[in-house]
Amino acid sequence: MKTINPSLDYNKNMELGRTKTIMETLYHNLKKDDDKHNKTVIETLVIKARTSDEEVFFNLLGDVCDYIYQEKVKSDSVKTLLEPFDEEEDLDCVIIMLCRDFVTSNQITKYIVQKLRYLSDIISMLSLLFYKKNESNYSLVAENLLYSYEHKLTNEDIESLMENMKTYINDSKDRHTDVLIKYLESKKTFNSDKYEAPYWISLSEGENISLLSSIPVGETYDAKELVKYDKLPEYIESFFYEFVSKDKRDDDDDKSFFYKDLPENIKESINTFLMVSNEAESKEAKVKIGTPERVWGPINRIVGRDCCSGPKGKGPCRMLLCECLEGEDDEELYDPSVGMTWFTGKCDGCNGFIPDLSHAIRFPHRHGGWKGCYCSFECLLSEPPYIIEDEENILLNIMKQNINHIGIMDRSSFC
Ligand SMILES: [Zn+2]
Ligand SMILES: [Zn+2]
Repeated sequence: MKTINPSLDYNKNMELGRTKTIMETLYHNLKKDDDKHNKTVIETLVIKARTSDEEVFFNLLGDVCDYIYQEKVKSDSVKTLLEPFDEEEDLDCVIIMLCRDFVTSNQITKYIVQKLRYLSDIISMLSLLFYKKNESNYSLVAENLLYSYEHKLTNEDIESLMENMKTYINDSKDRHTDVLIKYLESKKTFNSDKYEAPYWISLSEGENISLLSSIPVGETYDAKELVKYDKLPEYIESFFYEFVSKDKRDDDDDKSFFYKDLPENIKESINTFLMVSNEAESKEAKVKIGTPERVWGPINRIVGRDCCSGPKGKGPCRMLLCECLEGEDDEELYDPSVGMTWFTGKCDGCNGFIPDLSHAIRFPHRHGGWKGCYCSFECLLSEPPYIIEDEENILLNIMKQNINHIGIMDRSSFC
């Protein structure tokens, strides 16, 4: 059998980065439909390339891919040409290399994947990528794989990948899997059949989209008449007294001490709650249509100023409007032309879909304003943006009572 010596000009060419000549070497030495011969050629070239640097190796792989594409090499021969690039002749690993190390174009990788009959399915590949991602960005390589396989991930696919990831985490002790989980979660699609709307949303007769432009959000801070409850009704005293931790309760038997020590905005939240719940009760709990509470959610005012995202920057911080705390990490002030940013469509707790902003609830900050985006009270308490102490506890309970009493107008049917 004729032995070939592809190394003649190879090293020199590689040093000069003249891949064009490697292509010529390939064309010169590979024989159409002679897999055995071709395998020897590639193996020899791969051994040479491995002793050089990584770039040489990847250039060679890229050139072999170009060759396969240009020559329309048939399936079995594609396998022969590519296998030697993995030390264990694992074709799956070679395909991951193509998607991960950008050795050839997406289009050629896709051509090769479609041509090969010996590859694992996409779920196995994406699971193998947990191990083979090296330093690369998982999502980028995964996107290349999905493109090449012409596959769109279903929620079931994502479930099985999450399961496989547990095994991977166990095997590898990789502690940086957050980005992987985030990526997979982001690929989930909303399944309206399985979605259960929260219990507090409703659409009363007469409520419609026009309320979004006609219902005021509430008074500005300056104009606000400060409602004072010097003497709290008996039931409200015990209402928030229950949120005080046990040791504090035992320290002092005077229940009213706690109200006057509260920060102003919390007092105001209690006042608003009292007004609203009295109104609701006086109408025998019959829901009034189009109240600011139902359209914009409960108030948690920042004392001394209006909400940055209220209409013309006026009015109190309402749960479904407030942006005051969303950009707090960067110094820049909220720019109303940017529009709404707090509603992400996903729950900060479980990452589940929230199909409409009126289905979301948010965390009331002790100094006023609202933070986050959650699908349920359970999620809000499981991943709160702030530590929950007495003040937060009171605000959360006021908010919950408020929402339970009055509900939120369901906007999901408007779009
Ligand atoms: Zn605000
Ligand atoms: Zn959730």
